[in-house]
Amino acid sequence: DTTLPAMLERAAARWPERTALEFLGARTTYRELLAQVQRFASALQSLGVQPGERVSIMLPNCPQFVVAFYGTLMAGAVAVNTSPLYTPHELQHQLQDSTSQTLVMLDAFFPRYQEIAADVDVRRVIVTGIQDALPFPKNILYPIKARKDGTWVNVRAGGTVHAFKPLLGRQAPRPAPVTLRAQDLALLQYTGGTTGVPKGAMLTHRNLVANSEQARLWMSDLREGQEVTLAAIPFFHVYGMTVAMNLSVLTGATIVLVPNARDIPMVLSQIQASKATLFPGVPTLYNAINNHPETPRFDLTSIRACISGSAPLMLETARRFREITNGANLVEGYGLTETSPVTHVNPIFGEQHEGSIGLPVPGVDALIMNAQDEPVGPGEVGELWVAGPQVMLGYWQKDEETARTMREAYGRRWLLTGDMAVMDEGGYFRIVDRKKELIIAGGFNIYPREVEEVLMTHPAVMEAAAVGLPDEYRGESVHAVLVLRPGQQVNEGDIMAHCRAQLSAYKVPRSVEFRAELPKTAVGKILRRQLAQEAREARE
Ligand code: ATP
Repeated sequence: DTTLPAMLERAAARWPERTALEFLGARTTYRELLAQVQRFASALQSLGVQPGERVSIMLPNCPQFVVAFYGTLMAGAVAVNTSPLYTPHELQHQLQDSTSQTLVMLDAFFPRYQEIAADVDVRRVIVTGIQDALPFPKNILYPIKARKDGTWVNVRAGGTVHAFKPLLGRQAPRPAPVTLRAQDLALLQYTGGTTGVPKGAMLTHRNLVANSEQARLWMSDLREGQEVTLAAIPFFHVYGMTVAMNLSVLTGATIVLVPNARDIPMVLSQIQASKATLFPGVPTLYNAINNHPETPRFDLTSIRACISGSAPLMLETARRFREITNGANLVEGYGLTETSPVTHVNPIFGEQHEGSIGLPVPGVDALIMNAQDEPVGPGEVGELWVAGPQVMLGYWQKDEETARTMREAYGRRWLLTGDMAVMDEGGYFRIVDRKKELIIAGGFNIYPREVEEVLMTHPAVMEAAAVGLPDEYRGESVHAVLVLRPGQQVNEGDIMAHCRAQLSAYKVPRSVEFRAELPKTAVGKILRRQLAQEAREARE
């Protein structure tokens, strides 16, 4: 039972001179990181931020993210992870929903805030340049006026804008002590929005520390104070936050920060230069590396272990990635924002079941429930329920949603995941698909994932999505959207023939669409919802 700031203090005491952060050639030790975090906490206090207040953080992976996140918590405030990809409208929604009065952001994102500044109640903005060298972002031409004391007034919104580095420079090296308890709220983490409007999951210090511990126990041979984590997956998503950032702080690993996971040559060169040993990722990232023309030029053999989460890992993706890294252990895991996020992982040593999300991590109970809310046995499909120390308190100011998603039963508090799953005789779980994305064609249930697995085995296909479209006779029918490998050509007929050879007739796509790329969420999940909507509109 500890808190995240206490976890960082322990790391700084145990490994003071170890590099905590490596960013574009600059290094920060654990001792220096703690000092900056303390100054950031002092800064928030001096600006009047009270314990329990929300502080929104809109930054890519960079040292300032880690400083702002841990500093916010050290001041007793609640961090609100904010996607750098948000449009002004989405940003406005999240600032209002979380009632954040403080916003920490990259200078380049400032114009998006400026558009909505008059409509939100943000009192202070802390702005930073990616390299943090600028006294104040030079390229900003917004209605900001300099004051004598070195702050800026945001004329339109009335709030004050502060520059990150000089602000920290002016602070007392230690914040006033704040009483923090493990059960206190640490983070409002909005869900990915894959299936609808994002909801804020309330995660406590206990939730987040427990999940880092669970991940550490899973990685039984993790060498404390020696690992190097390649942090390409974003910290503003709970998966990157726990598995790339907090797990590293817990175990004294060096975090190599990559601000943009879509820049594959950058990811590759950082792996090679830092000799990264751990590389958590998402299937679309491993897949992109597998298919990038520059991949063979880089040495990726330092990578020992990878956990792939957030979406199904196609067998083909895992196989090819192992090949190019000379046998890195790439195992699939599973989780949700609501569970901090990890609940299941394949054992890194011992039996791995391909296509499976593995076993519940220590401290987690999992049930498969039928439509009558009764547990079912091995081999039967039902909704996955999970309980454990990493399960959220509930959704922020959404009591009805919370009541729909959480249930007391068998003496535990369960989260209803909304995912259909099945457990085999050996206790390994497999995700069948999201309950919400089930396609019902002529009375038959079709899980899009099954169709996508088959589409992915076609040699010309690089990415695939299957969605349901309204169909006069069948209710819904399967529509496939594909991205082909560079230089490949196939037509709709080839794809349908390929599917007919492997799928029952009702599962075969009735229409196929080719695209240059697929829309994805910030963490790289394919947005089936958007594809279905666009295909529907194209037909009208
Ligand atoms: P929203 O809840 O707003 O629609 P989201 O579901 O993407 O967005 P997240 O919490 O980021 O929100 O994602 C959790 C979901 O991701 C799970 O419920 C599950 O559907 C999916 N998922 C995660 N890991 C895996 C995996 N290994 N295999 C299949 N699905 C996975």
